Amino acid sequence: MDKINVGILGSTGSVGQRYVSMLSDHPWFEIVALSASGASVGKVYREAAKWVLDKEMPAEQASLKVIAAEAAEMKRAKVDLVFSALPSEVAKVVEAEMVKAGLTVVADTSAHRMGADVPLIIPEVNGDHLAAVEGKKGKGCIVTGPNCTTIGLAMSLKPIQNEFGLRRLLVSTMQALSGAGFYGVPSMAIIDNLIPYIKGEEEKVAQELLKILGSYRNGFRFADFKVGASCHRVGVLDGHTEAVFLETERDATAAEVAGCMAEYVGEPQRLGLPSAPAKPIIVRSEPDRPQPRLDRLSGSPERARGMATVVGRVREEPALDHGIKYVVLSHNTIRGAAGNAILIAEMLRAKRML
Ligand code: NAP
Repeated sequence: MDKINVGILGSTGSVGQRYVSMLSDHPWFEIVALSASGASVGKVYREAAKWVLDKEMPAEQASLKVIAAEAAEMKRAKVDLVFSALPSEVAKVVEAEMVKAGLTVVADTSAHRMGADVPLIIPEVNGDHLAAVEGKKGKGCIVTGPNCTTIGLAMSLKPIQNEFGLRRLLVSTMQALSGAGFYGVPSMAIIDNLIPYIKGEEEKVAQELLKILGSYRNGFRFADFKVGASCHRVGVLDGHTEAVFLETERDATAAEVAGCMAEYVGEPQRLGLPSAPAKPIIVRSEPDRPQPRLDRLSGSPERARGMATVVGRVREEPALDHGIKYVVLSHNTIRGAAGNAILIAEMLRAKRML
């Protein structure tokens, strides 16, 4: 099978580096273009990127010259598919230009997520929403992945929604520093501290969740359960942890809820996509898990490390009607960003939409 040429927008950032690391030896995709801001353009990647991952920078990409975030540059590099990890305000214009030039864009940014014709995809949850870009092959389109806080939460909710229905959801998050980018939170602000506010995050969680867990048929129909979120930044490097409280439509025991999550598989698993974790949701039975340091890289095979969502402490909650509570963890720059986008691209390829 010929490899598909890909370019990465925002390649030097927190998420961009994950793309480079995860795509450097990908069986279906070949990195041919790395792009960043004007300050990086013209430098080789090794000089432009302040590398923060514990895995070495791949040698092949280290010597690539960083190009401008322009459609003409991507075309010149013969890119077929663009991954976008740009700041949202930049993404709005740049991603639209890429689409206009006939490129397929898979974006981690919030700029176009809520667009009326833009699918917002977690492949295990709502891969069928890709129908919104059916027939766009070679004509330019955009597919988005959700906010890093929404992904693990939506994955854990999907089997519960399927089996028992959802009536009400409350979530309190403990979000990692890498979610704000390398320069996002000053160390003086977070050491010995937490910050009980992340701008725009609570609104995003509520809106995105209802789009993802809704349906698509000639338009998006949002799910109609109630959502309330409280989002907090904590001194963890990678991995968002969330305390979830919910009411189901039909009565369910904690064991039934844990069971339906543990058994869940989605379309990526059925299609055998390269980055699909064998078990998308891992349910732990220890009373003190999941923990970011121990569980954020969960997922097998090797290519799917960090792609599984980890759930623990599944309990009944008598203070709610049909109440259930649990803790969910997912890796924000792998499952919550680059890894999810790569899985979307694999799904597009498997469905012959690329
Ligand atoms: P980041 O570390 O700040 O990186 C931003 C990247 O964009 C850098 O490569 C930067 O290049 C480039 N850039 C900045 N301004 C630009 C411009 N005017 N033109 C072209 N390139 C420009 O940010 P991040 O954390 O990786 O996040 C990237 C996007 O992903 C954001 O929209 C964020 O909301 C979203 N996201 C992040 C996470 C997460 O966990 N971090 C999860 C999901 C989604 P230079 O190095 O040259 O400045």
